Amino acid sequence: MQSSLVVGSGFGGIASALRLRSLGFEVHVIERQDDLGGRAQVFEVDGYRHDAGPTVITAPFLFDELFELFGERRQDHVEFRELTPWYRFIFPDGDHFDYGGTLEDTLAEIHRIEPKDQQGYQSLIAHSKELFDIGFAKLAHQPFHEIKTMAKQIPNLAKLRSDRSVWDMVCKYLSHDKLRQAFSIQPLLVGGSPFDTTSIYGLIHYLERAYGIYFAMGGTGALVEQLRQLMLRQGITIQTGATVSEILTSQNKVSGVRLESGDVITADYTVFNGDPMHLYRELLPQNDIPFATKIKRDFSKLSMGLYVLFFGTNRQYPDVAHHTIWMGQRYKDLLDDIFHRQTLADDFSLYVHRPTATDPSFAPSGHDSFYVLAPVPHQGAGIDWTIEEPKLRARIIDALDKTMLPDLKEHLRAPFSMTPENFATDYLSYQGAGFSIAPLFTQSAWFRFHNKAEGFENLFLTGAGTHPGAGMPGVISSAKVVERLVKEASEKLPLSKEKA
Ligand SMILES: Cc1cc2nc3c(=O)[nH]c(=O)nc-3n(C[C@H](O)[C@H](O)[C@H](O)COP(=O)(O)OP(=O)(O)OC[C@H]3O[C@@H](n4cnc5c(N)ncnc54)[C@H](O)[C@@H]3O)c2cc1C
Repeated sequence: MQSSLVVGSGFGGIASALRLRSLGFEVHVIERQDDLGGRAQVFEVDGYRHDAGPTVITAPFLFDELFELFGERRQDHVEFRELTPWYRFIFPDGDHFDYGGTLEDTLAEIHRIEPKDQQGYQSLIAHSKELFDIGFAKLAHQPFHEIKTMAKQIPNLAKLRSDRSVWDMVCKYLSHDKLRQAFSIQPLLVGGSPFDTTSIYGLIHYLERAYGIYFAMGGTGALVEQLRQLMLRQGITIQTGATVSEILTSQNKVSGVRLESGDVITADYTVFNGDPMHLYRELLPQNDIPFATKIKRDFSKLSMGLYVLFFGTNRQYPDVAHHTIWMGQRYKDLLDDIFHRQTLADDFSLYVHRPTATDPSFAPSGHDSFYVLAPVPHQGAGIDWTIEEPKLRARIIDALDKTMLPDLKEHLRAPFSMTPENFATDYLSYQGAGFSIAPLFTQSAWFRFHNKAEGFENLFLTGAGTHPGAGMPGVISSAKVVERLVKEASEKLPLSKEKA
């Protein structure tokens, strides 16, 4: 049996491990954290549970497929509950916009804000479907490491004006500023400013409309746990608390990895699921990295950083939706501060997660569990978080106390936070970026880090920094690409037999 190593256990790593196992490979997963899941790790403090990262499940079929590889049904292990609304937007003037439910529900909400944008929204969805049919259905699972694949897609990408930004696309269809903001924030979920992110990501509107938005009961952590058990049932071996410090190479082949402990683990194929910026900076011999990859590594623009504040409350806020986007006063200007000027502004926009809206098991009875996320500059900005964190925390608590969470200061319990510094130290994300490199047109498809490493026949990449990109649907799709590439490579180059 041929052997494989998967370094990192984010959703891309887990999905790759399962897919390689379904091909008949021996699979060993190595993860530096104590638990699996990567950014989807779970914290539990004073009875309040928190998913650390992803909470919004789109494209549920991608998770189902992982169980189906082994003749199992995801529904038998973890329930996905559809949310209504999908998100609530709260604007600085106190107005709100509930997005989700049926098309009619969304149209009624749009009508309340700007009647003439109802038609525009339907045109936006029609455009989004075209993007989905190409960007997701045709390209997301396709390897893009060869320039000829990109060349073939250029007419499609040009026809859909994927050089245009998500913001430009949304403005073509919607006129009201509140709706423009609500329907353009999606790139922030994959690490980009709506003003710079390629409009290919406008496909998210159709993805949400066609398949809905779900919450995994028990949390995303419960989904990770069920995937862990599936891996164990299938004989995948898992090693946690172990960091890979070097990828061992000989000419153009990878023989395995060295851990920080000094242990060496060998395998026929290695799949790397951490940040490609870390892989190409720290783990591979610099002389063997091709020039073009070095250019990509040295000139890529990073996604933003994230400040995440976790807390409980010793009362409930029953009127607060499961997912709320709390919009600040500034939109483009704030995003320019974060992405271009790289300064930590005094103001912010927030994503507020209240899992207890759907699943009371996240907090003691009568309490709520929350996390609040603010996009901030990545560590390239040189922010000293030991100074800035307490100040930002106080500003956020104050703003929520005065608006959607009255008396929060009095009811707040067990607060703690993650800053970009934690993303750098916990996940080895370069500059603590929340989503590896940004989803720009010039960093997508062939221009993104390839799923097959240049220069090494048996090294593959899965996860947010690779094609197709960040977000759970993106990274799980990247594992499909890896499965295909490893299969092709193993047919061309049966390494174990060669060694024998
Ligand atoms: C706060 C937050 C909220 C989000 N919300 C959503 C959401 O609602 N919906 C959605 O779809 N997406 C969301 N995302 C994005 C999504 O979580 C990520 O894009 C995705 O989970 C990343 O998966 P990945 O496969 O790239 O691996 P990661 O989760 O990045 O995991 C990689 C793993 O590799 C390990 N590793 C790295 N280097 C080494 C090494 N040298 N040795 C050993 N181990 C190593 C790291 O410790 C880490 O555990 C969110 C992200 C964050 C941070």
